[in-house]
Amino acid sequence: MSGSRTARAVSLLLLCAAMPAAAQQRPTLDAKRLAALKQEVAAEVDRMQVFTQQMVDQLFSFGELGFQEFESSKYLVGVLRQNGFTVTEHVGGIPTAWLATWGSGKPVIALGSDIDGIPQASQKPGVAYRDPLVEGAPGHGEGHNSGQAVIITAAIAVKKVMERDRIPGTVKIWPGVAEEQLGTKAYLVREGVFKDVDANIFTHVGDNFQVGWGQEEGTGLVSAQYSFLGETAHAAGAPWRGRSALDAVELMDIGWNFRREHLRPATRVHYVIKDGGDQPNVVPRTAMVWYYLRETSYSRIKDLFELGNTMANSAAQMAGVTLNPVRIVGSAWPTHFNKPLAEAAYRNMQLVGLPTWSADDQALAKAVQQELKVPPTGLATTIEKLGTPVPDSMNRGGGSDDIGDVSWNVPTITVSFPSNIPNTPGHNWVNAIAMATPIAHKGATAGAKVVGMTMLDVLGQPPLVDSAWSYFKNVQTKDQQYVPLIRAEDRPAIELNESIMAKYREKMRPFYYDPTRYKTYLEQLGITYPTLKPQP
Ligand SMILES: [Zn+2]
Repeated sequence: MSGSRTARAVSLLLLCAAMPAAAQQRPTLDAKRLAALKQEVAAEVDRMQVFTQQMVDQLFSFGELGFQEFESSKYLVGVLRQNGFTVTEHVGGIPTAWLATWGSGKPVIALGSDIDGIPQASQKPGVAYRDPLVEGAPGHGEGHNSGQAVIITAAIAVKKVMERDRIPGTVKIWPGVAEEQLGTKAYLVREGVFKDVDANIFTHVGDNFQVGWGQEEGTGLVSAQYSFLGETAHAAGAPWRGRSALDAVELMDIGWNFRREHLRPATRVHYVIKDGGDQPNVVPRTAMVWYYLRETSYSRIKDLFELGNTMANSAAQMAGVTLNPVRIVGSAWPTHFNKPLAEAAYRNMQLVGLPTWSADDQALAKAVQQELKVPPTGLATTIEKLGTPVPDSMNRGGGSDDIGDVSWNVPTITVSFPSNIPNTPGHNWVNAIAMATPIAHKGATAGAKVVGMTMLDVLGQPPLVDSAWSYFKNVQTKDQQYVPLIRAEDRPAIELNESIMAKYREKMRPFYYDPTRYKTYLEQLGITYPTLKPQP
């Protein structure tokens, strides 16, 4: 690049001399220079649109469930190595977790995004009604196929500027493995992945740009498996000889379903029975029920988990069976995001603006909304307000994200980017429709610009890092410090989803995206964009 030497000289000249004491080890970039670098990174992200699109489409086509993201991780690790990152695999004993690092010195910026899919969410992209690629198979019915494309694109664009201008700093990229199981982020924390991190920028697919600070609406949780052990007997010939583990599961569920009336409205308790016995004429010797126990604060989550254990013990006593040691398979702290970082990211969202949607993009979105019988408002055209803390008394509960655990260890934000259609149910095949179309691609490109610009803020403004830590230490963790919800003996539940993927992987493989032959996944599948339901 012809202008690079000049640019470096200019950027070095513009280093600002006045700095607070804590930031003196790193120079502050002049505001004009910072703004110019942001424009440059945004332009580079635009030039990388094909690269970004291919990553979005590739992960979409793998459609892997939590802990089974083998193809996705192999692919992403390959992309990162090709682009100069050093990658450690098998982080924390999790086969699909890795940590990619580039650069040296401070600040250390961590970039993360989830990579796992949703059961039963297989869906042809760009088609506005239910049309699975493989019936019953998992798919990206949330949109976790897009976030790594956002952060990897941003990181490579910023890396180019850092190399040229010799801006010190380290970039660490990590995957949210098994987010749907809230399965790994507490382990990544325990493993020390975030030990030296100054700022953690997490991204998540959304239907708009969104970022906020403080505790948002939602919950944290303990996800626990309760398994019981009874004794088999002929269910007709000698049922009195047997003890049914399934009875304990049902009694526990009944207990919760009565207790439900007397829980706080924000509490969420839900379960699936993973083992209900083998066949009706054999009294079930084993049975297992899997609970998500959600509340809005650490202490309430602990209390709810205790209540769950009481229910399980009582159910075991009633059924005359044994409760095996309770297994925690996932956990999440309620999220708390960093104010100075969120404000910086929000300014960048306003600079970038929402993507320019085409008539086809809007037609797909409106057709999907019509299919769902929700107002056909189309795609987002105005950026949401900066999110502010939701007081505990106003928190109506809702979902959880184990980014919460990271957010209580280092200054963290979640940048939501506009790659999906508003007013969709989440965790559903509908949420996959947009995720390998120009809607997802444009949203990922826009998201990469915001992440890249926010990285530059962190790199170029040491006072921002200082104030992020000051918020973290003096506000966020003043009265509440992180205590893991996982116990010392807990291990990642890496076998989860093994059997589902074993059932579907070979049926899904023929649909893996091949970017060497097709420009886009839509092209490979021969889908006309958008495909709308024929009107009767
Ligand atoms: Zn998610």
